[in-house]
Amino acid sequence: MLSMRQSKLFTKTKKEVPSDEISRNADLLIRGGFIHKEMAGVYSFLPLGLRVVNKISNIIRDEMDSIGGQEVKMTVLQDPEPWQKSGRWSDKVIDVWFKTSLKNGSELGLGNTHEEAVTRLLTEYISSYKDLPCSIYQIQVKLRNETRAKSGILRGREFLMKDMYSFSKDKNEHEIIFEKIKESYKNIFKKIGIGHLTYLTFASGGAFSKYSYEFQSISSVGEDTIYLDREKGIAINKEVLNDEVLSDLGITRENLIEEKGIEVGNIFTLGSRFSEPLNLNYTDEKGEKKPVFMGCYGMGPTRLMGTLVEIFSDDKGIIWPENVAPFQVHLLALGNSEAVFLEAEKVFEKLSSQLNATGDKKIEVLFDDRKNLSAGEKFSEADLLGIPNRVVISERSLKASTDFLGLELKKRNEEKGKIVSLQELIDILLGA
Ligand code: ATP
Ligand code: MG
Repeated sequence: MLSMRQSKLFTKTKKEVPSDEISRNADLLIRGGFIHKEMAGVYSFLPLGLRVVNKISNIIRDEMDSIGGQEVKMTVLQDPEPWQKSGRWSDKVIDVWFKTSLKNGSELGLGNTHEEAVTRLLTEYISSYKDLPCSIYQIQVKLRNETRAKSGILRGREFLMKDMYSFSKDKNEHEIIFEKIKESYKNIFKKIGIGHLTYLTFASGGAFSKYSYEFQSISSVGEDTIYLDREKGIAINKEVLNDEVLSDLGITRENLIEEKGIEVGNIFTLGSRFSEPLNLNYTDEKGEKKPVFMGCYGMGPTRLMGTLVEIFSDDKGIIWPENVAPFQVHLLALGNSEAVFLEAEKVFEKLSSQLNATGDKKIEVLFDDRKNLSAGEKFSEADLLGIPNRVVISERSLKASTDFLGLELKKRNEEKGKIVSLQELIDILLGA
C-alpha cells in the first residue's frame, strides 16, 4: 500500500463519538477516523481502517493459500432451497437471519454463513474420489441480526468473515486437513501479534466429533468465560467444562484459571451434516457412493481488528502491532520553519521509496505535512492513530547533532525517543 500525506486524508480525528457508543474499540476507531458508525452494529471502513483490515485479511489469505485453500467469493443473496433441505431456513433454527424477498414475493436470505451454498456449489464439481480432498474459502461480508450489538466491531450486524470449507473422503483424510488448519490459525494469530494471548479452546462438538475448537483471545471485554491451563497452553470453554473433558485432556481443576475470551476463530467437523441432505456424494475406488466428509473454519477479520484495539491501547489511543498497522512510520513536521518542511519532504521522499525489511514493498509512511497545527495537537493525534514508529522533524531535532540532520524516532509503545540520522532510521526500520 502507498504512503500518504495527512493533509490529503479526507478523514479527521474527532473529539466526540456517537453517544450510544460504549465499546472501547469503536470509541478509539471512530475518534481516529478508522471507521464510521452508520447505526448500531453497522460500521463503514474508512481509509485508515480499511488498510488495517486489508492487512489482517491478507495475512489470513496467505495462510489459507499456503495450505491449499482456493479462494472464491460466494453471493450474499441466498436461495432458500438448500437451506430448506438442510433444515436451517427457519428463524427458529438460525435466529440471526436477515431475509428479504423478490418483487414476485419469493423469499431470499442474506448470507449469515455459507455451508448450504458451498455444499450445493460443490455438487456440480465433485463426483469421484479423484476430486477430493479440496478446501475452499472466502473473505466476505456476513449479515446477522445480532441481538446484542454493543461491542463495536467485535460484534457487527454486518461484518467480515473468512470462512473455509474442507471436503474429504472420510474422517481420516479430514483430520489431516483439520490439523493443518489448526496450525495455520496459530500462525495467523502470531503474525497479527496476539499469538501469546490466544488459546486453542475446547468447546462442545457435534454428531461427528466430540469437540469443536475455538480460538479465544484473552481480554476483559470477552463475552466467553474460558478456563486456561497455562502450562499446557490450552483452554476449555465454560459451557463444556466437566470431569470427562478434564480427564480427556489430562487436566486438573486446580491448574485452571478463569479468564474472559473473545472468540476470534473456530474450527468445526461437519461430517455429512450438509453433504447428506444436499446430496454431495462421491464414488470411491470400489465404485461405492459415499457422502463427502466436511469441515468448516471461521475467522473474523473485523472482530480481530477490534480485538487488537482492545488489547493494544492505552489512555492516549491505539498501539498497532507492526504487521497490521495502517502505516509503518508516522512522520511529523513541526513548527512553521521553511527549512524543517523542506527537510521533511526529502525524508518522506526517501523513506517511502525505500523497500521494506522483507523487500516486497515500500516502507509505508503517513506524512503529517499540515501547517499551522501545534506540536501538542500533532503528538496527541499520532498517539491516537497508533502508528508504531513516530519520526519528528523540528528545528530542535535538526540541531540536536552537530554531525548530521537529526530526526527524533519514538516507538508508540515506548516513553522516550532518540535522535537518529536518516540512514540510522532506515536501518532501524529495516531491522538491520
Ligand atoms: P459468536 O459466538 O461470537 O456469536 P459464532 O459462533 O456465531 O460467534 P461463527 O458463526 O462460527 O461465530 O463465525 C466465525 C467467526 O466469525 C467467529 O469466530 C468470529 O471471529 C466471527 N464473527 C461471528 N459473528 C460475528 C459478528 N457478529 N461480528 C464480527 N465477527 C463475528
Ligand atoms: Mg453468533
